Amino acid sequence: PETGTAHRRVLLKLSGETFGGGQIGLAPDVVQRVAREIADAVAQGVQVAIVVGGGNFFRGAELSQRGLDRARADYMGMLGTVMNCLALQDFLEQAGVKTRVQTAITMGQVAEPYIPLRAIRHLEKGRVVIFGAGAGMPYFSTDTVSVQRALETHCQEVLMGKNGVDGVYTADPRTDPSATKLDHLTYTDALVNDLAVMDATALSLCRDNDVRMRVFGMNEPGNVTRALVGENIGTLVTT
Ligand code: UDP
Repeated sequence: PETGTAHRRVLLKLSGETFGGGQIGLAPDVVQRVAREIADAVAQGVQVAIVVGGGNFFRGAELSQRGLDRARADYMGMLGTVMNCLALQDFLEQAGVKTRVQTAITMGQVAEPYIPLRAIRHLEKGRVVIFGAGAGMPYFSTDTVSVQRALETHCQEVLMGKNGVDGVYTADPRTDPSATKLDHLTYTDALVNDLAVMDATALSLCRDNDVRMRVFGMNEPGNVTRALVGENIGTLVTT
């Protein structure tokens, strides 16, 4: 590993695509596999915070194109992320990991409210903290929230789990056969070359605050553990 795992604290972003296995709804077998890989890293002493996406249920931008008010559609999107949180929580607990879910929209029966200092305390005690409901604000993305939560809970790295690609490429490898994978790039490279790493809001937050990010592929078994413990996989993105 590039860094020792003692006191290593990282933020893992899991997209809705992972939770749905590429479809609408939940793919429990995939969530179970990911939970087991997270459990492996926790057993090695890594402190893990997770931000969960929700595109497998609703994306606000898509719903608004079909006639819904954008802000209300975004709230639907945020509520979708909470279902993914509960699924992940369940499989993590089954794998022997202590967990807490914290949501940016208060729903006391299913989760704690987002309280940063309490989240840090959970992490110090070895509990996995799962952040749901995005930022609680329409017009934001869970990618942006990942960066914000990582900053506020003092995570050393943001780990972006991707489906179908194993890092950042010079072009879209699914459509352009000449695309090559990059081992390292800067946020400015990503902006200038319009590389689809994350949305512009998330990107500028990273750049302004010197965030270290790794983009890696979720499909290869074991990769979630590898990324969490600090192996040099995928693409490293820095200022
Ligand atoms: N969302 C939002 N504010 C946030 C985070 C998410 O409004 O802070 C909504 C938005 O509509 C988004 C949906 O929740 O489309 C699901 O999140 P996202 O698309 O980021 O999930 P992913 O692409 O990772 O599956």
